[in-house]
Amino acid sequence: MTRSRKSTKSPPPGFEVGQASWIEISAKALKRNVSVFRGLLAGKAEAHDGAGSSKNIAPALGAVLKSNAYGHGMEEALSILHPIVDVLLVTTAREAFAIRRQESKRELSRRRLIVMGAVDSKEIENLARLGVEAVLSGDYVSSHIDVLKRVGLRLRVHVHVDTGLGREGYALEDMATVAEMFEKNSDTMELVGICSHFANVEDVTEQDYARKQLQMFDQAAAKLEALSRAAIERHMAASAAAIVLPSARLDVVRAGISIYGLWPSAETRLSARVLNDDLPRLSPSLSWRCRPQLIKQIESGSYVGYGCTWRASRPTRIAVLPVGYFDGYPRIVSGRAHVLVGGMRCPIIGRVMMNHMVADVTGVPDCDYESLVTLIGTDGKEQVAAETLASWAQTINYEIVARLGSHLDRFIIDG
Ligand SMILES: *Cc1c(COP(=O)(O)O)cnc(C)c1O
Repeated sequence: MTRSRKSTKSPPPGFEVGQASWIEISAKALKRNVSVFRGLLAGKAEAHDGAGSSKNIAPALGAVLKSNAYGHGMEEALSILHPIVDVLLVTTAREAFAIRRQESKRELSRRRLIVMGAVDSKEIENLARLGVEAVLSGDYVSSHIDVLKRVGLRLRVHVHVDTGLGREGYALEDMATVAEMFEKNSDTMELVGICSHFANVEDVTEQDYARKQLQMFDQAAAKLEALSRAAIERHMAASAAAIVLPSARLDVVRAGISIYGLWPSAETRLSARVLNDDLPRLSPSLSWRCRPQLIKQIESGSYVGYGCTWRASRPTRIAVLPVGYFDGYPRIVSGRAHVLVGGMRCPIIGRVMMNHMVADVTGVPDCDYESLVTLIGTDGKEQVAAETLASWAQTINYEIVARLGSHLDRFIIDG
């Protein structure tokens, strides 16, 4: 398959035989997406709808690297994004420690790094030592303060306000208590920022709920700023809000899915088309590929896969692929999915198994053991987008990429 082989510029070593699938990350695509965001953030700030600070400088660009960089591979994504974004964000302290380790290993300077999720009082000391910022959202604060007092360290902290997601965060009414807590513990905790998270930007094309959230956030931020007599950083927008709700960009944008080149939803894409004359051009950076583990001819009447759900109605050439639901290929797509071989769609037949699935390659006579099989990505004129696989699996692109097994090898193809 000379044609499809060309699409992988550096064939991953050790994969001549189809033993396992692998993930290819395009550095160029990631960089292009960062430029798209830089362009958006540098754009003229829209008239403020009663929310946000009215500074004239572009918001800082934060890249969200949680969940193995949305399945793209934390190390791979970090190596490309670290030099070109302003802030890194993760969910857990463990993820932050892994990033700090990578930074020392690669002799990179420390980037601003924020842990958005809950942290343990056992992790607090190291977070403070490593200059990682934490987000407080209403719990465990006193044990954290005790630890910091004991070790004599000061932690940079953001306050999370729940403006209507019903997840992490203090209530608007708690701001007085929070300000008091910072005042009393200024030796251990430095108030750096205030943040919140939208509930309903991706699912709609009209942003009424988001605007209410933004208004409430603005109130909370104003209150906390007044009480603590300090200017604090405000951040609220994830990818979708950063794209379609300019007034939500504030001081820092926390972009996840779209840094990787994926649209948060079809609605967001539609809204962006209406809002911007020019639709931001996001480039998916992830492809998922394998080679056939086995190719063989089966007779008409033979069955394929568990449950004998598929039966050949004609002599069929099948390719057994070394991919299954263990790797993150959803079992529920059995009977509806296709992969690409030699730029052609080949249906997956029978059930997706734990480590295997079977493609009908009868239509691609030159399919051989060298052929590249594309599970997510482009081959010739055909594409299986993460969204395509997501729609077969009745889920969203986020879940598809985030669940790609961390055991899979990841390669940067054009770095
Ligand atoms: C995951 C997450 C983001 C990024 O969301 P995307 O939709 O992927 O851009 C931002 N903020 C918080 C709090 C998150 O949990």
